[in-house]
Parts: sequence; C-alpha cells; structure tokens
Amino acid sequence: MTIPVFRFAPSPNGYLHLGHAYSALLNAKLAERLSGRLLLRIEDIDVTRCREEFVAAIAEDLTWLGLRWEQPVRRQSEHFDNYHAAFGGLRRKGFVYPCFCSRKDLADAVRLRETKTGTQWRRDPDGAPLYPGTCRHRPAGEVAMRLGRSEPHTWRIDMAAALLAAPGALAYTRIDLEGEATLQPIAPARWGDAVVVRREIPTSYHLSVVVDDAVQEITHVVRGQDLEAATDLHVLLQALLALPTPLYHHHALIRDEQGDKLAKSRFSKTLRELREQGISPAEVRRSLGFNRT
Ligand code: GLU
Repeated sequence: MTIPVFRFAPSPNGYLHLGHAYSALLNAKLAERLSGRLLLRIEDIDVTRCREEFVAAIAEDLTWLGLRWEQPVRRQSEHFDNYHAAFGGLRRKGFVYPCFCSRKDLADAVRLRETKTGTQWRRDPDGAPLYPGTCRHRPAGEVAMRLGRSEPHTWRIDMAAALLAAPGALAYTRIDLEGEATLQPIAPARWGDAVVVRREIPTSYHLSVVVDDAVQEITHVVRGQDLEAATDLHVLLQALLALPTPLYHHHALIRDEQGDKLAKSRFSKTLRELREQGISPAEVRRSLGFNRT
C-alpha cells in the first residue's frame, strides 16, 4: 500500500494569515488520519515578489501553530531545471508555442475586439481576458526568425492541440472530508491558451506545481477553492507530461467579517499579529474548527 503524501505549498510573498493556517492544519489533520506524510513546499518562483524574510516566517509561524513537516523542504527557486525539462517535453510534442505579444499588445487586441463586437471579450476563471490567439498560427519561418531575434514574452499552451492529444475524457478524483470520492470531469478550455513559461520567470505556477507534485509523489492535494478551476489545467498538463494525477480536495476559503478572501483583505490579521496580541495557537486552531489543543 502506498503511504499518502500531503503538502502545504505557500508562496513567501507575505506573512501567513488564518486562511493559510486553515489549509496547513487541514493537510496535517488528513495526513495524520491516514497515517500519511506531510511536506512543506516553498513556492518562490516569482523572485521579484518572494522574500527570504517570509520564508523564515513561514517555518516560524507553522511551528508556532504546532505543525511539523519533513525535511528537506523543497524550494521551487532551486528547481528551474526540472521545470525547463518539462517545458522541453511540451515543446517537442508541439503543445506550446512562443507568444511575442507584450502585455500592452494583449490589452490593445482585446480592446479592439471589444469595441468591434460591443461585447466583453471572454475571460478565464481568474478574470483575465482569454488570449486572442495572435501568435498561434504564425508561419514556421516567421517564428524561427522572431526566435532568432529575441526571446518570446511567453510560451503558451496550444489548448486545441493539447485537447486533441489528451487521452479520452479527462477527469480527476475529488475527495470530500470523509474520504468519499467523486469523479470530476474537467474543462481546461476555459483557460484558453494559458501561459506556461514567461521570459522573466522561466516557468509558471501551473507548470511548477504539476512538476513538483509529481517529483514529491504527492497523493493528496488539499488546497483552497480559489485554485479549483486551476486544477483543470493541472490535470491536462499531467496528461500531456505523462505524470500521475493526485486526489484533490478544494476546501472552502476562510473569509473576513466583510466576506472578502483573506489573502485580498485589508482587514485580515497575520498569524504573527495574532501571536503578538497574545492569542494562543490553541485558540487559532479552535477558531478554525480544529479542536485538538
Ligand atoms: N502557492 C499557492 C498559494 O500560496 C498554492 C499552490 C497549491 O497549493 O497548489 O496560493
């Protein structure tokens, strides 16, 4: 029997708040219930926003909460070679294409279409306009010439080609908190030709998370509902890269009194602020519905 492997994977671009605490505690609780392992992964591919100070604070705050995890901790910034290799696989199979559109080009193209049609251009689940496809069908000669001149702004998944190549009807297994499993069909096309690699960061959240979950042999991905739609893209990438698909549980998000997501909220307190106010880890756990003291 394989041992269940869970992970908590924060990005060190700020201090942890109650939403992170809930996710980490839930992973720990489920890992314990199934006699599984708990890993911590630092998702620090965005070197412009991530800071060492926050990496140290993550370990400190989680330890304060009473959590323990295995060593060594995987840091994404140390594994760009892994993501590059996965990207190479996608490129060789023709599942990605270089995109030479800048952010401004994209905004202009979308605005033009919206003015022409009088309707809003389609958005992806994160609310960003879908890529209008400008670079998808450039002739091979032109692409070679442009690649010789400069690095593309991004490499995008060719969603139509990817869906054609993906085996059968894609789905993943969703589990609820009682361990009940349901098959969840996916609809990755709603992401359009999503970015897989950027010029400034030679990977993306989607590519790195899929590679890391496979490298770390994660069997159970437990994360917030805000990432539920992204799972569709992850399952597609797993199929294209011949990687296993873990089980997924997307938990409800902890919201502040105003009903806003904590990560975006101006009112939410970080764990260290709560600690400084004299709140105990047991109180934090209880307030989040974890009854162990
Ligand atoms: N790094 C992501 C975040 O902090 C979580 C990624 C994941 O759990 O897949 O929101």
